[in-house]
Amino acid sequence: LRVEAGRFVAVEAYETSPPRGTEVVEAGDAVVLPGLVDPHVHMNDPGRADWEGFETATRAAASGGVTTLVDMPLNSLPPTTTVEALDAKREATRGRLWCDVAFWGGAVPGAEGELAALAAAGACGAKAFLADSGVPEFPRLEAPDLGTALEACGRLGVPLLVHAESQSLLDRARPPEGADARSYATWLAARPAAAEVEAVRLLGRLLAELAARGVRARAHVVHLSAAQALSEVAAARRAGLPLSAETCPHYLCLEAEQVADGATLFKCAPPIREAANRDALWEALAKGVISLVASDHSPSPPALKLLERGDFLGAWGGIASLGLGLSLVWTEASRRGHTLADLARWMSREPARLAGLEDQKGALEVGRDADFVLFDPGATWTVTPERLWTRHHVTPYGGRAVRGQVRACYLRGRRVYQDGRFDGAPAGACLSRREGGA
Ligand SMILES: [Zn+2]
Repeated sequence: LRVEAGRFVAVEAYETSPPRGTEVVEAGDAVVLPGLVDPHVHMNDPGRADWEGFETATRAAASGGVTTLVDMPLNSLPPTTTVEALDAKREATRGRLWCDVAFWGGAVPGAEGELAALAAAGACGAKAFLADSGVPEFPRLEAPDLGTALEACGRLGVPLLVHAESQSLLDRARPPEGADARSYATWLAARPAAAEVEAVRLLGRLLAELAARGVRARAHVVHLSAAQALSEVAAARRAGLPLSAETCPHYLCLEAEQVADGATLFKCAPPIREAANRDALWEALAKGVISLVASDHSPSPPALKLLERGDFLGAWGGIASLGLGLSLVWTEASRRGHTLADLARWMSREPARLAGLEDQKGALEVGRDADFVLFDPGATWTVTPERLWTRHHVTPYGGRAVRGQVRACYLRGRRVYQDGRFDGAPAGACLSRREGGA
């Protein structure tokens, strides 16, 4: 891999005598992977930087071989629903990025008019909720508004990312008065698979209606958890509709049977479901019905997880895993017969494509940024607080033995991380989706 001015300029047979003045990086026994692209991260900055923040998020990312993060529009204050808010985000990143960062805008009721300005300002697309988002400043869309947002994004040529759980089904599943809030079964019952199925079906129907009117809108289901919803995704794709889906390390590596009552570190929405559900998600990845793996890193201050009370209904719903994704997913993937090439597709190429960054990121190819990772696929290690670079060390993966370790991480040809140390100063950049991107 020959690098010049931060980009790959050749992929060729190794020369024993490279041109004079060339710096040579010997990978040794490590595998060279493209820098990962994580398209679903809540950095919560500005406004709730005490929950995470750009510096700690990008530092944790680089330690785990992630060279591009795409920031979610909510949990920061203000949420990224206007160009002013996007500008405030970019301002807050100054001098604090250990990897590159791009941004999703937010689609909230009555603000469809902002989507064009956000896209023109470089947002990669927009995110919307069909269920309550967990924060009051980011309201959910009802079906008609979702159609409007899909059409707006479709006309702009950017994807709409959707938190796909039907609020009306969640309302019906609300735990009864006096339900045992410490019981994981209570939380599972409160977020039934049917809510995901219903919401994905609605998305497919709206995409079909728009297609019939000549609007090619693209929708992406974030953090798909319920295997029952996969047939809805597959049906839409068979009909030629541009519907894609992601799942997350916690749905692929954890299962409901292992979650102890009161263990609110495992709370997220939609929830971590049973072992059989997990197997079905892996099959869907293998078949391409799920196209990518994203962290949905959604940390909070430890107090909000209500760890002492173990209250699944009151605790913040979100799982922190930034920096661990590659090892977590590889541990499980290698056991199931998948390859590092599969991981590179799920965690680099496809997420770069979703965010419209595929001419810059996502592969070890000539012309793309020289973002790469030296990865030792056979090394085993245990997740402990001192190995975490996120602001808080509250994660369900503490104490877990994993396989595969990032030795070094390079951003645009420059080493930013090696064996537990960071190099130089933060030199990450804010990225914009290119006009006319996929
Ligand atoms: Zn999220």
